[in-house]
Formats: sequence, structure tokens, C-alpha cells
Amino acid sequence: MAVEKNYPEIRDAVIKLCGQFGGEYWRKLDQDKQYPSEFVQALTDAGYLSLLVPEQYGGSGLPLGAACAVLEEIQRSGGNGGACHAQMYTMGTLLRHGSEAQKAHYLPKIADGSLRLQAFGVTEPTSGTDTSRIRTTAVRDGDDYIVNGQKVFISRTEHSDLMILLVRTTPREQCAKHTDGMSVLLVDMREALGKGLTIVPIDTMMNHATTELFFDDMRVPVENLIGEEGKGFGCILDGMNAERILIAAECIGDARWFTEKSAAYASEREVFGRPIGQNQGVQFPIARAHIQTEAAALMVQQAADLYDAGKRPGAEANMAKMLASEAAWAAADCCVQTHGGYGFARDYDVERKFRETRLYQVAPISTNLILSFIATNELSMPRSF
Ligand SMILES: Cc1cc2nc3c(=O)[nH]c(=O)nc-3n(C[C@H](O)[C@H](O)[C@H](O)COP(=O)(O)OP(=O)(O)OC[C@H]3O[C@@H](n4cnc5c(N)ncnc54)[C@H](O)[C@@H]3O)c2cc1C
Repeated sequence: MAVEKNYPEIRDAVIKLCGQFGGEYWRKLDQDKQYPSEFVQALTDAGYLSLLVPEQYGGSGLPLGAACAVLEEIQRSGGNGGACHAQMYTMGTLLRHGSEAQKAHYLPKIADGSLRLQAFGVTEPTSGTDTSRIRTTAVRDGDDYIVNGQKVFISRTEHSDLMILLVRTTPREQCAKHTDGMSVLLVDMREALGKGLTIVPIDTMMNHATTELFFDDMRVPVENLIGEEGKGFGCILDGMNAERILIAAECIGDARWFTEKSAAYASEREVFGRPIGQNQGVQFPIARAHIQTEAAALMVQQAADLYDAGKRPGAEANMAKMLASEAAWAAADCCVQTHGGYGFARDYDVERKFRETRLYQVAPISTNLILSFIATNELSMPRSF
């Protein structure tokens, strides 16, 4: 018995849609390193990418829990929501901190699919996980900010019109708190490309459309500042919590895909004259992965409920993401083992999903940093950095 699933109608509809994009579709894209444009268009047309946009702006106005259900089912179908999940989590920053004018200008176009908000620019080569040390700066010049610096591993920029970008507007040394002095800009990449913005793709072990960005006197209108200047870290935290919860839901979907695949294969593959799944050495790791997944699913639901209640559930979002990514990885490892040599054969999709789900212990935040956050913030132990 699995954790009771919420939003059953949405789940059924997503399963049906994903049925049109089977393993062959994803394998081909993976091999050719291509973006799943048809899949993202189908999700857009069905209204799933505007799920969180309030009804007054043309969206469905549903809570984060509904978006979790969508992403979980995409992953559970064997697909990969990484191509488009950012529109759901970047929304947290825009919805909670955008001005009325910004929301009125952008949200209806995001809702009808004519604009994509799929990029979230935080990570930099020299600061890594230590976000307060970002070096990308924005300096005010009349009605514009002038942005200089570099970002790395910023995904989907070639398939997005807009980007939520974290920059420094006041040097770290001049701030009372290290997290002060940062600001969030909504960058229209269609305007900026070739005029101060350069995008360079990064080839990774899975098909993820991630890129490096270079800013060379890129102009962003001051009216595109989200929230207050210098208070940007708080604004992106809402996006980050949403991101962690949504990615945790994707990991639950991955874990369920792996476990269902393992159980089915172990029940049908016969060696030594009986199904391999009859051997407890094969059976128990699959059962353990299932238990780990269901426990993690409860934490994901709890984190989404708190987020939907308007809270800032940093601890729950982090715990959910860590537990779910570890459950997915345990299920993935077990799935390869259960499939023996076939776990490595591309036609089975196991090796592709194995590569894809490994990411979530590193991004959007690594497991060590989650442990450190919980140790110091929840358990009041001394900080190590
Ligand atoms: C495919 C992909 C897509 C991505 N997409 C995006 C995106 O769209 N937007 C974005 O902003 N970023 C994105 N990222 C970046 C991702 O969030 C970072 O890679 C991640 O946060 C880790 O940062 P880093 O790579 O600089 O590692 P580092 O910070 O250099 O850390 C390396 C390792 O050291 C560990 N470590 C570092 N400091 C400590 C410490 N004090 N104590 C214990 N352990 C420590 C970390 O846990 C990690 O395992 C993406 C990354 C990848 C690979």
C-alpha cells in the first residue's frame, strides 16, 4: 500500500498525456541531446505549466501540491520533467514578491504559453554552494541596472524567454548580514541575448540542457527588479523552497518508476528455474526501496502542505528533498542490480533514468549542505562555515 495520492484526476490526466511520450521518445532525445519540445508543448497546451498562476491571470490557481502531483507522475511514467519544472518553482519568487504591474504584465503570457519562465540563475563558478559570495553585480545607471559577471549550470536558458537572476547590488563586505545586498532581476533573455548576454551549452552525462552564462554590461530595466533592492535572498528562498519540494516530488516519481520496474522484472525473469524475485536477496532490496520511498513521500506532502499554507518551510523542504533523492537513488541502484546486464542496455531505460536521478543529490542543493542546514538551524549545533 502506497501513501494515499492526492489530486487523482490530475494524475490520471498526466499519466494519459505521458503515455504519448514513451521510452523510445526519451531515449532518442537522450542520444541526440535534444530538448523535448513536443512534450513541453503538450504540457503547456494542457495547462500544466501554468498550474500555479492565479486564475485572475489566466492560470489554474492551484497549490504547489498539485504541481508536485504533475511532476511526480511525469517521472513515474519514465519521462523527465527537468525540461520544464523550473516554470513551476520560479513562480514562487514572482508570485510572492513580484509587483502588481509585473504580475499583470508577465503572468497572463506565461499562462497562455506565449512566454516561458524556465531559467533560475543562482550558481556561479567561484562561489558554488556559498550563494552569499556570488560575484555577478548589478550597478544602477539611470533607469537600468548594468549586469556583469558569470553563472554556471543554468538550465534551459536556450528554451526560456525569461530568467530569474540573483545578483549583488551591494558588496558583501558593506552588508550587516552576508545574505543582504543581493537582488533579484527578471531578465528578458530575448532582449539581452547578444547584447551583453552570452549563452554557452555545457555537455553533461544526462540530457539536461544546462548552460554557462556570461554577462558583459547587460542592461536590465530597473522596473524588472523583483522585491526590494538588497533583499533578494529572501525572495529567492521562496523559489528555492518550492524548487526543493517539486524536485523531491520528481524523485518520488523516479523511485516509484524504478521500484515498479524492478518488481515486475524480478517477478518475470527466470533463472535457476524460478523467478529471480523469489530469492529474498533480490526481493528485499526492492521492498526496502519501496519503504524508503513511501516514507519520503510523506515528508514531501508535509512540506508541500506547509508551503501551500503560506509558510516558509525551509527545514521540511530540505528534509523532503534529501529523503526523496536518496530513496530514488537506492531504488535506481537496486533496479540496475535486479536487471543484471539488461540494466546497462539502453533499450530498458534503466541506465538513462539512473543517470538522470543521480543529479538530485547534488542539485539544486547537495546533501551535505542540507545536513549542515538541519544541524545548525534545527538542532542549534555550531556552524562549520
Ligand atoms: C545538471 C545541472 C543543472 C543545474 N541547474 C541549475 C540551475 O538551473 N540554476 C542554478 O542556479 N544552478 C543549477 N545547478 C547548480 C547546482 O545547484 C550546483 O551544482 C550545486 O548547488 C552544487 O554547487 P557546486 O557545483 O558549485 O558544488 P560546490 O559548492 O563546489 O560543492 C562540491 C561538493 O562539496 C560539498 N561541500 C561544499 N562545501 C561544503 C561544506 N562546507 N561542508 C560539506 N560539504 C561541502 C558539496 O556538498 C558538494 O558535494 C545545476 C547543476 C547541474 C549539475
